[in-house]
Amino acid sequence: MGIVYLIGAGPGDPGLLTLRGAELLAAADVVIYDYLAPAKLLALAPRAEKIYVGKKGPVHALPQEQINALLIEKAKAGKTVARLKGGDPFVFGRGGEEAEALVNAGIPFEIIPGITAAIGGLAYAGIPVTHRDFNSSFTLVTGHEKDESSDIDWPSLAKLPCVAFYMGVGNLAQIAQRLLAHGMNPQTPAATVQWAATTRQKCVVGTLQTIEQKVIGAGISSPAITIFGKVVTLRSTLNWFESRPLFGQRIVITRTRQQSSELAIRLQNLGAEVIEAPTIEIAEPSDWSEVDRALDEAANHDWIIFTSINGVLAVKNRLLATGRDIRLFGSAKIAAIGAPTAAAINRELACRVDLCPDQFVAEALADQLLAAEPMREKRILLLRADIGRPILVDRLRAAGALVRNISIYETRRPAALPPGVGEQIRSGEIDWITFTSSSTAKNFLELFGPPTDLQKIKTASIGPITSQTLRELGIPITVEAQRSDIDGLVQSILSNQQ
Ligand code: SAH
Repeated sequence: MGIVYLIGAGPGDPGLLTLRGAELLAAADVVIYDYLAPAKLLALAPRAEKIYVGKKGPVHALPQEQINALLIEKAKAGKTVARLKGGDPFVFGRGGEEAEALVNAGIPFEIIPGITAAIGGLAYAGIPVTHRDFNSSFTLVTGHEKDESSDIDWPSLAKLPCVAFYMGVGNLAQIAQRLLAHGMNPQTPAATVQWAATTRQKCVVGTLQTIEQKVIGAGISSPAITIFGKVVTLRSTLNWFESRPLFGQRIVITRTRQQSSELAIRLQNLGAEVIEAPTIEIAEPSDWSEVDRALDEAANHDWIIFTSINGVLAVKNRLLATGRDIRLFGSAKIAAIGAPTAAAINRELACRVDLCPDQFVAEALADQLLAAEPMREKRILLLRADIGRPILVDRLRAAGALVRNISIYETRRPAALPPGVGEQIRSGEIDWITFTSSSTAKNFLELFGPPTDLQKIKTASIGPITSQTLRELGIPITVEAQRSDIDGLVQSILSNQQ
């Protein structure tokens, strides 16, 4: 016999799932999820079968009885089932009905509460649902009832200081009219927030009298929460989420999936919606023999140079995979292009870096090595990607160094951009695209099509070398990072937004 976990996914931001929810998703054989459960959470259940049973307005992918039957069927087949629902499973989420069906079928279950939309969603709109100056109670109401036999006590609701309606956008006129008819002050502050706690969040503020017109005017539709109460006035001071500098910006990242997370997190923390469209994939070398020989002989070199985080990771993985370790480096000195590469050497290889120029380009490393000591007859081991500019090798060889140039990993272009991304760029739905290397730019264009279709989008380049390639490719550049790293790239986008 399996088990069913009824998991609340929170109001929208995937980060608002509980730790227990994440743990159970990771362990699930099947995830059965709704329209309002953030799709990104499915990635936490990589090995699970995923079944969508969502309902969007009147369109139900699966009627409730069939959802219940599906939960029972999967559990009876011995599966661990994660039933993922928006917000909290027991707040207007039919979690109670599903749990009853499980009890009747004799199936074990657990409830994992989530942050409900009225509380978490309104918090993201800068509206605290209680405040000592304004209200000592807070009421949740559904604006959409099961049938006509309403148990909503309108005369009482109209007297309450703070009331939030779920599923009420369609009936908002009627809701406001009933509250007015039963004596609620027409000037009661009101707000409606749509897609709260997501990058699509939109909020309008008015009064009991005006909110319906404001909602229509702003084109707000379901899912949305409407709140009536004086706490709404706090939004003007507490609206933290929508005030983040990149709120509402859609930004495409073109670097490899392995590398994109740091940039993605930085941009997301500033409020942006990030779309990952890797234009480079990293692969192991087709033949390891040359790499292995170079690693075995690493200690015979004066300098070992790393040019990227990927190179550092590739070395680490190869050492681990072949039972070798960092002692192979002996007393060779270590150099890095870029502070992030140097940090990766520290972190991944537990190894100090002897030289890392302030500027993150090959020219700067060549200059500093040449300044550090005479390069004549010096043995240099360069561990880099199969692509890369020849400048470093050329400069060091010209100075008499013996350079051993090893491709520690290979790069290739993926077959296509993720579905829909090209179209979104052409139609202007995406605000920014970021380029972090010449090869991401070249590959992007090969996957995307003519650069003339990039008129509606802003572009951010990580530095002069990438910018030069962009110009050669005919891609217009909106901003270039002053410092050629992730921080510099993010700063350049921010300065353009201000
Ligand atoms: N169990 C859910 C509610 C499900 S009913 C919870 O606890 O939040 C669906 C209604 O929830 C929607 O019609 C809308 O009123 C509200 N809702 C859910 N997510 C929302 C969001 N991100 N923004 C605004 N309203 C949301």
